[in-house]
Amino acid sequence: MRILIQTLFILLTFGAVLSGCGGQSDAPTSAAAAAPEKTYNWKIVTTWPPNFPIFQEGVQRFADDVKILSNGRLKIKVFAGGELVPALQVFDAVSQGTVEMGHGAGYYWAGKLPAAQFFTAVPFGMNAQGMNAWLSAGDGLTLWRELYKPHNLVPFPMGNTGVQMGGWFNKKIDSVADLKGLKMRIPGLGGKVFAKAGGTPVLMAGGEIYTALDRGTIDATEWVGPFHDERLGLYRAAKYYYYPGWHEPGPVLELTVNAQAYASLPANLQKAIEVAASDTNQWMLNQFEARNMQALRRLKDEHKVQVLPFPDDVLAELHRLTGEVMDEEAAKNPAFKKVYENYRGFMADHDEWGQLSEAAYQRARGQ
Ligand code: CA
Repeated sequence: MRILIQTLFILLTFGAVLSGCGGQSDAPTSAAAAAPEKTYNWKIVTTWPPNFPIFQEGVQRFADDVKILSNGRLKIKVFAGGELVPALQVFDAVSQGTVEMGHGAGYYWAGKLPAAQFFTAVPFGMNAQGMNAWLSAGDGLTLWRELYKPHNLVPFPMGNTGVQMGGWFNKKIDSVADLKGLKMRIPGLGGKVFAKAGGTPVLMAGGEIYTALDRGTIDATEWVGPFHDERLGLYRAAKYYYYPGWHEPGPVLELTVNAQAYASLPANLQKAIEVAASDTNQWMLNQFEARNMQALRRLKDEHKVQVLPFPDDVLAELHRLTGEVMDEEAAKNPAFKKVYENYRGFMADHDEWGQLSEAAYQRARGQ
């Protein structure tokens, strides 16, 4: 307390000296410095259902953190998908400045921006650790910002599910031939690979999946992982739960900020957004890492779900087909090609290092 009082005294004295100096010089006294600091009331819209655990929960946590970090100067009101704008119009709403911020996943905008998929997930691509390294210490974030700049958006990584599950099936998958003719809810590049394997990818929002699987409109589906899949009740509609999620090995969720709104903020409030987003990015991944195994145990023990690995030859073929899909997409779209080359180069180094770090360590533990 004594130190605090001394500090305050020094600050007040220093302030008085500065004011005194200002009065003696010809420089006009700054009205801005004397006025109370400006406050900002912003809105964030998300692609998630109301109260959706971890995702929507994390966005609310982010807004609360920004309020604290900005000393109440930047208040962000959170809206779930459909509350202010439809879930899949988040990109446009933030781009046009209808709202200042959005939260979702880059691959939802694949129709408009195929290269945006690199900033969510690539089949057989990098895991959460690799994605965070590429975005934060490689060229990932620079490429992402370059891609979104013409759309008036500043993106930040804000969340990651970790490796997802491969999905729910009504029959066993013993060979690639078993994928032929299957209708599966699987989005993005993973869906394109699945089509090459002879399946039919279907796109549908999370809320429709259970009914479609239960009624046989689709034969299989992927969603997220044990924690969220249990909540959707998918174990009541399919019996076989396959791993790993080859199509989504570490999907990144994104915060998008309208570029003009972001530029209008003082540097300390911009930093509050960056710091809170970075913390939320890690917080969401931690939630999945902590909660998934408990949910998987309940699925196995209470709901008698059969949890099975995809056969090695099925994964090898899906991996090979992924290479074809990536090359075809790169040939069609220069922005996709540019990001792919950088992503692929970073992943090669990260994989090589990972072989003698993470992978070697796992083997050393007998795993
Ligand atoms: Ca998924």
